[in-house]
Parts: sequence; C-alpha cells; structure tokens
Amino acid sequence: MSDSYDVIVIGAGPAGYVAAIRCAQLGLSAACIDDWCDTAGNPVPGGTCLNAGCIPSKALLESSELYARMQHGANAHGLHVESMSLDLAAMMARKDHIVRELGSGIVTLFKSNGIDWLHGRGQLLPNRQVRITRADGTQQLVSGQYVILASGSVPVELSAAPVQGERIVDSRGALAWSAVPSRVGVIGAGVIGLELGSVWSRLGSAVTLLEAQESFLAMADRTIAAAALKLYRAQGLDIRTGARVLSTQDEEGAAIRVAYQDAAGDHELAVDRLIVAVGRRPGSDGLATAEAGLLLGEGGFVHVGEHCATNLPGVFAVGDLVRGPMLAHKGSAEGVMVAERIAGQHSSVNYDAIPSVIYTHPEIAWVGKTEAALRQSGIEFRSGTFPFAASGRARAMQASDGLVKVLSDARTDRVLGVHILGAQASELIGQAVLAMEFGASSEDIARSVFAHPTLSEALHEAALAGSGHAIHLAVPRQR
Ligand code: FAD
Ligand code: NAD
Repeated sequence: MSDSYDVIVIGAGPAGYVAAIRCAQLGLSAACIDDWCDTAGNPVPGGTCLNAGCIPSKALLESSELYARMQHGANAHGLHVESMSLDLAAMMARKDHIVRELGSGIVTLFKSNGIDWLHGRGQLLPNRQVRITRADGTQQLVSGQYVILASGSVPVELSAAPVQGERIVDSRGALAWSAVPSRVGVIGAGVIGLELGSVWSRLGSAVTLLEAQESFLAMADRTIAAAALKLYRAQGLDIRTGARVLSTQDEEGAAIRVAYQDAAGDHELAVDRLIVAVGRRPGSDGLATAEAGLLLGEGGFVHVGEHCATNLPGVFAVGDLVRGPMLAHKGSAEGVMVAERIAGQHSSVNYDAIPSVIYTHPEIAWVGKTEAALRQSGIEFRSGTFPFAASGRARAMQASDGLVKVLSDARTDRVLGVHILGAQASELIGQAVLAMEFGASSEDIARSVFAHPTLSEALHEAALAGSGHAIHLAVPRQR
C-alpha cells in the first residue's frame, strides 16, 4: 500500500466516497480515510447518510408507513385486516440488512476502482500530509498532491437536554430503539424531527414536537408548510411551535420531564424517550492541525469558494463540512465537481437547482426559490397551483392530500421554483429539477405531454394554472 497518492479524501460519506470514485475513474490514484465503525466495531463506509441517516431513516419510514396504511388505510379499499402485530426487532433487522448490503456495495466499488480505504481518524498537516490515527492508537502518515476534506457533520447538542443512553438520544439513537415508547418527545420540528417523529408515531407512540421558532418549516413554501402542519396534526403529531426548552429532568425508571416556555407561559412535558433534533454542525473539530492553517468560517464550516477550494493550495472541502444545505446529493455533486476540477475539467454545481425533500406522509419536496425569497429579491413572478384532490391517479392511490405550486418569472416565464406536498413528491421533484437545469419556462412544462393517469399531471396542471389554463380546476386561481 502506497503512502503517497494523487488524491487523499478524508471521510467516506456520500461526499467523500463519491469524490474518491470519480477521482479513480479519471485515472488518479486515491485513498479514502474514514473512522466510522458499526456497533461491532468494524469499519464501514457510507458515513452518516448510509449508517445513521438517509438510508436507515427511509427504511423505517417505509416500514412504519406500511404498518399505518394496513391499520388505517386498507379498509377504504375493502380490505379488512383482522389481526396484525408489530415485530420491531424484524423491522430493525431489515433496516440493518439494507445498510449492510449497501455498505458492502461501497467496499466493492472501492476495490474495483483501486481505491485504498484506510481506517482511522485523519488529520490534515501542512503540505497536504495527512496523519491517520487508528482505533488501536497506531499512526500512519500519507501525502497527496490534492486533499479533499469530507468529514461531514455531527448533531448539535443542547445543554438543556444532554444526550445520554437510550433515553435522551440524537437521531442515531432514535433509529435503533428496541421497543416502541409510549410517549416520545422531540426537540426540534425540522426535517429529522418530522421524519423520526412520524416513524414512532406510526408505530404507536404519542409524539410531541417542541419547536423553538414560531413559524413551522421556515425554509419551505408558506402554503405548503401550512397545509403540511394541518395534515401532520391530523395524523396525531402534537407540534408545538414557539416552544423554548429550558431544562430536562430524567428520572430513571420514570418519565423524562421537559420544561419549556412559550408565549402562554411555562409548561412541562412528560415523556418516556426524548429525541434531540435541533440541527447539525460541521465535523471540523481537530480536522487540521493549527500549523496546517486551514481557514474555518462561521459555525466551524470550512471556508470554501464557489468550487469548494479552501484557503490552502490543493486542498478542497465538500459536503456537510461546507456552506449550503446539508444534503447527501449536494455533497456528492460537490465531490464529483472537485474530482473533475482536479483532473483539469471545468465542472461546477448548480446550487440553484438542488432539491430538498422531507419524507413524511405526504412528502414535501421543492427546488428553487420560494415566493418569500422571490419577493425579498424584488423579482416579479407568476404562481400556479394544482391540488392532488383533482388528480385521478392521486384519488385512485388514496393520496389526494397536497398540491403542486410552480413559480415562474412574470417577464420571461422561466421556472424559478417548484414546491410539492403530496405522495411521491420526492420522485416528482426530479422533473422540476430537469426543467430548471434546462432553463425551461412554465409554458415548456405546460406544452409537454404527461401520461394519464399519473401524479405528474399535477405538475403539468400547476404549470398551466400559472397562466390560467389548468383544465381540471373549476375556478382558475390566477389569470
Ligand atoms: P457524512 O455522511 O457525515 O460522512 C462523513 C464521514 O467522515 C463519516 O463516516 C465520519 O465518521 C467520517 N469522519 C469525520 N471526521 C473524520 C476524520 N477526521 N477522519 C476520518 N473520518 C472522519 N440527506 C439527504 O440528502 N436525504 C435524506 O433523506 C437524509 N436523511 C437524513 C436522515 C438523518 C437521520 C440524518 C442525520 C441525516 C440525513 N441526511 C439526509 C443528511 C445526510 O446524511 C448528510 O447530508 C450527508 O451524510 C453528508 O455527507 P458527507 O459525506 O458530507 O458527510
Ligand atoms: P433542521 O435545521 O432541519 O431542524 C432543526 C429544528 O430545530 C429547526 O426547526 C429549529 O428551529 C429547531 N430548534 C433549534 N434549536 C431548538 C431548541 N433549542 N428548541 C427547540 N427547537 C429548536 O435540522 P435537523 O432536523 O436536525 O436536521 C439536520 C440536517 O440534516 C438538516 O440540515 C437536514 O438538511 C439534514 N437532513 C435531511 C433530511 C432529508 O433530506 N430528508 C433528513 C434528515 C436530515
């Protein structure tokens, strides 16, 4: 095994391992250093996304949604489930199996691309040298013509609710409970809070979410956020906004008592398990020695320019470690861009067309600007919306909740944003991403032919609605 490489990547999450593979594809020798181990202490690639994020959460969201649908949705189809039981251990085992299989897939990709996967904690030294400290304390020095930092992020801690054991957990702990708690509290009604809150609520827990902000899902379109809040509450999620957590008291063997304050005064919430989901911060602690001189910006994010170059020559940083949304696909896109730029290409990432998805039921997905952002920038726009209640396919699927909203420039008609609340919004948004990548106008979408009956027709109708031509709206909302 060599000690010097064209490219050394620190971190084997979706930003790092994808960067390493793209480097290898371009003929560069690459090593990928990572310190993640499974519960048995074996090194596993894939980072947060595969091991404690995107994939395990989606596995549990799928299982729990199936459970909820069999209980509450089947009757409408004339299907009466006489008796059903929940085998949580089997559900968790399925999730763990998916994670393991995908992890093995990455190991195979490393091997087939000739990438050295080095286990341990990497630290950047001056002149693109990297010190690797293994779990047993032994060390190794490697050096690269280029270094890509991709050490991801870690959960933000809350002094009022320190994570401990199985009872007060972050998202990782909440993906591995061995029994369904009667009462679950969640601090933070953001993406993780809503996804994991949904999982445990569907499995039978009474779930209460305490959100500090007055406004719900501040980053989402306002119409969508308001409609989603109503639906989530109807599903049984007790979402309390404007709630500032003051302290927690964990009485072992009894309840966890969460003291919080809102506009109405002081309150106490008693729960059996508590999830702290108040955001994530970049994993830049100890990533570089002081002598290396790596510049960090606000909040500990590694400071980078448009193309992810740091202040140090030949050193790049990608993924959750740098500015922008903390999303796996954003990190992977940056990893590819950096690899290609190292190889002399002129790649870039279109940050205006990165989709966001919240995998609740129904799902929320969007790409581009919200109405509020457009107003703030003084851009005049047209808005067309279409409800899934008017979609034949959505009705057939028992998925008539939600809507599609298409925002386009009032002058040029170019699509500026698409916002979806509805079944399979995560898949539908891909069409909007393509439209935006190709600089489509809403008329381009409106003049395209979509298969019938499909959920995609709602995107078509929303594009038509922008100019008052939606076919299946009795009263066009805009003219
Ligand atoms: P990470 O995936 O965090 O990987 C970094 C890797 O580097 C880790 O293995 C870490 O152990 C390792 N590392 C850190 N420091 C060092 C070091 N010094 N030396 C060696 N190794 C080091 N995003 C989505 O797009 N879709 C989703 O559905 C989604 N769901 C999520 C659900 C949950 C519960 C969570 C917590 C996150 C979710 N995310 C989702 C966010 C997503 O996981 C992250 O955006 C993504 O993992 C970031 O990728 P990354 O490669 O930058 O970092
Ligand atoms: P988030 O930023 O989505 O939500 C955190 C929420 O906690 C916010 O609404 C915030 O106002 C609230 N909050 C902060 N401090 C609080 C306090 N003291 N008391 C009560 N509420 C408080 O962060 P997250 O849900 O922790 O997720 C972290 C990151 O992981 C996100 O950036 C997200 O992009 C990513 N992620 C993505 C997905 C996905 O793509 N589907 C899923 C999970 C996580």
